[in-house]
Amino acid sequence: MSLSGKRILIDPGHGGEEFGAVGPGGLKEKDVNLSVALFLRDMLAEAGAEVMMTREGDQTVPRWERRDMANALRPDAYVAIHHNAMPDEFANRVEVYYPWVAQGPSVDLAWIAVQNLAKAMGLPHRNPLPSRYTVMQIDVEPAILTEASYIADPREEMLLRNERRRISEAKAIFDSLKHYFEAPGPVVKSVEVAEGKIVIRVDGEIEPLYSMVRVSNHEPIFEVSPDGLSVYLPFLPNGLHSAECVVRNRWGRSSRLVRHEFMVKRPAAAFAASVFPPIVPYRTEAPLLLTIEVLDHYGMPVADGTPVEVEILEASGEAVRESFTTRSGAVLYPWRTNATSARIRLSAGRAQRVIPIQIRRDSRYAMFVGEIIPPGRNVRVRYKSHTFPALGGRYFWISHPGGISGDIEVWAVGYKPQIIDLDIPPGSSDFQQIVLEPMQGGLLLDRRFYIDIGDPRLMPVATELKHLLSFHGAIVRMSQTTQITWAPEEHSAWEAQEFGCEVLVSLDARPRRQVKYYYLDKKGSALAEIIKSELDALGHEYEMTESGQYILIHPDGARVAVHLPVDGDFSGIAEAIFKGILNYAVIEFSS
Ligand SMILES: [Zn+2]
Repeated sequence: MSLSGKRILIDPGHGGEEFGAVGPGGLKEKDVNLSVALFLRDMLAEAGAEVMMTREGDQTVPRWERRDMANALRPDAYVAIHHNAMPDEFANRVEVYYPWVAQGPSVDLAWIAVQNLAKAMGLPHRNPLPSRYTVMQIDVEPAILTEASYIADPREEMLLRNERRRISEAKAIFDSLKHYFEAPGPVVKSVEVAEGKIVIRVDGEIEPLYSMVRVSNHEPIFEVSPDGLSVYLPFLPNGLHSAECVVRNRWGRSSRLVRHEFMVKRPAAAFAASVFPPIVPYRTEAPLLLTIEVLDHYGMPVADGTPVEVEILEASGEAVRESFTTRSGAVLYPWRTNATSARIRLSAGRAQRVIPIQIRRDSRYAMFVGEIIPPGRNVRVRYKSHTFPALGGRYFWISHPGGISGDIEVWAVGYKPQIIDLDIPPGSSDFQQIVLEPMQGGLLLDRRFYIDIGDPRLMPVATELKHLLSFHGAIVRMSQTTQITWAPEEHSAWEAQEFGCEVLVSLDARPRRQVKYYYLDKKGSALAEIIKSELDALGHEYEMTESGQYILIHPDGARVAVHLPVDGDFSGIAEAIFKGILNYAVIEFSS
């Protein structure tokens, strides 16, 4: 009954010119996939489902076409059928994948299917994993991809030649779909933000204990109403927020993950103005920093982009009027003035205020103002063992009694340090623009790198590689920074993808020296080739091989794995990998 009228899309993997995996005795994955799919089709049709197939014969159907078909047909469920083989691993087990961002129905179905398949095939299983395979990049839920066994295993290949094994596999998937549709999860209809509340309208029974609501890192209180959930909003700072929910029923079956963004924008109610530095010379051509804070009636910074009108009225009668928008609740204005007092007239929305400002001037003081071009992150300025912050990564002020003389060092991650020799007598000031020159022509500047560490003994290599990359301005994340906690490869893959990595290097300790890549990752195989030649130059030859490692398949960016014997000598390894990355960057990042 549960399957009656359900529209189900079955996708037998590969086909035609694309064989998929091939068993040691020559059995082709494409044929096994199709056979299982046809048995499944007949079982579903018998149960009253409306079955659709991406192929019913031995045709070549590109992966993207299967994805587009799924998105266009919008079935009630999508099942891709595959059988596994990994170029670098001998195993036989059940694996079930679900789309990367899915948290609801696909995960539910994946867990049901993995258990049914493990029982039917008599094989161990891996827990279901998120996947970024092309056919898993679909907007259909539930959607799963099953790898019910490894065709590369000789015994398994023999079993799969027998129809009975393929029928029991199809039956396990059929039972999973039937079981799933007996109690599918609730459906979220809409999410609305009203005064202090979020109203989530839901179709279907809700079990609050199993349901999840998150509002920008808070887990707010919510209650179940006849048509959904009422969520009481916590106190939130001004700005953009997101509400996420997965609603579940008493069987633990989930709705889709629903994400809703909304703005909190309380009006401006108060202002504060100040001038920096606190004491300045009498004559100044250099600008002072006028900071205007704009706050709501709770004293919290207003949302970014709030328009502010600023009018500066000096005692001399001079007036400046300008419009700004806030960032982090403030407006920063480099103000060139010789005044000792002024009035600042401020308005934002309906809030208005005039603030008197005093500027303390002292003829013993000298002042230097630098403007850093381009403004950057991690800018540090040093003068006589003092460190000065660069506001917004852009301006810094040094104001000193008795004059300023000697070197000022300006240093920013990814740029060549600059030294400026100054000699400013008491009572005067100087202003300079400081143009920073990026390392390596800025090739690695702000590029995102992920280093996965498969063995704690490789921490020194990973750390050295991280330092080399960071020094050249890259943003680097490591799968771990201590040897205490150890993340599995699947977690690293997830983190690398969420981080937005452009290059991923996975380091692992293995008896043979190898550089690995995933065959569909063209950039990864190019990078692997370059890194291999740099590593070879150290005196040991590295083998270049394809790999089916999860971390090399799923994230974006160029991915490589470097395997090293831990008893070997690590010297020069990080540098060689770094040189490889740099050569790769010349080709890939310079255009
Ligand atoms: Zn396959």
